[in-house]
Amino acid sequence: MKTVSSLLDQEWYERYKRISRLNIRSSIYDVTNRCNLRCRGCFFFSSGEDKAASEETDIRKWEAFIDKEKERGVNLAILIGGEPTLCLDRVEAFYKRLPSFCATNGLIKLPRDRFPDLMVGISIWGDEDDEKTLRGKDTFAISSKNYEGDPNTYYLYTITPRQIGRTERVIKKIQDVGLKVHLQLLSNDESVDGFSWREEEFRDIRDEMDAMLDAYPKTLISSEYYHKIITTGKMMGRSFGWNECPSVTEYFDNRRPPPKRLIHFIRWASDLKTMHRCCTSETRDCTTCKDGAAHMSWVMVNKRAHLRSTQDLQGWIEVYEMFAKLYQFIPW
Ligand code: SF4
Ligand code: SF4
Repeated sequence: MKTVSSLLDQEWYERYKRISRLNIRSSIYDVTNRCNLRCRGCFFFSSGEDKAASEETDIRKWEAFIDKEKERGVNLAILIGGEPTLCLDRVEAFYKRLPSFCATNGLIKLPRDRFPDLMVGISIWGDEDDEKTLRGKDTFAISSKNYEGDPNTYYLYTITPRQIGRTERVIKKIQDVGLKVHLQLLSNDESVDGFSWREEEFRDIRDEMDAMLDAYPKTLISSEYYHKIITTGKMMGRSFGWNECPSVTEYFDNRRPPPKRLIHFIRWASDLKTMHRCCTSETRDCTTCKDGAAHMSWVMVNKRAHLRSTQDLQGWIEVYEMFAKLYQFIPW
């Protein structure tokens, strides 16, 4: 097997060293079971995860739980739901104790005097038409006003099949409000008509994602290797799915032989006791899963497989850097 230093020149080796020190240990937390939207295709509600546990409402129990998570070695708390901004006291309990990231639909403005540098990822599903169809309203019109120019916020742009040929407008409008954007693909968990991917569409959208990265390198937090992985679901000839997924809660992980995985990863429900199967829907068919973070993590936990060539290792470094930027471990 080749070594890292033999594959990289000095500049790439410095980039490698910067990320290899990070040792990211993430887990995911349902902050609440409630949301101020009900998107068609929401993995949380469509899989019944909102009913899997009743919310813990005692803030002292949240605080004690988070302290225990810290002792368990977690150094990145990814807050989801439901809509975390409906429970700011819980978000604050995380923020005061652990490096945290808050996923939100952006309809409620997180008060920056209370959370000065909390990284916020705002969801946007396609353009205005897609948003109205899938989410009932053009959320960008509201979220962009709430977060315009915020240095610790980016949009998580979920691309639908209808976005082919139309992504540039969305990326430009995000750029115009002074924010960054990261891309992922819709998994269509509720089989909404016209929103499931056909194989040839993956090729088209991959080309378009690459072109957007060329055109908007300062706005897009992305990499060509990530585009390849997420559109093909293939890495080094292996296929993404249950047998390979790194983002499975460790207590649910009975896979043999065990794949490379996120160490001690758990997705917690809001009762602070129940665990969900993985980082996304309990009921999703893994063969159609397009979860962006799970694909990024898949690359990241498989460093050894990328010690095959300089190009493979550089692709691995770029994906790792992308993840580290999105979760504030390194600057944009
Ligand atoms: S905003 Fe998020 S949590 Fe709320 S319904 Fe939509 S996808 Fe689900
Ligand atoms: S649904 Fe996606 S994230 Fe969950 S176990 Fe399957 S492949 Fe992994």
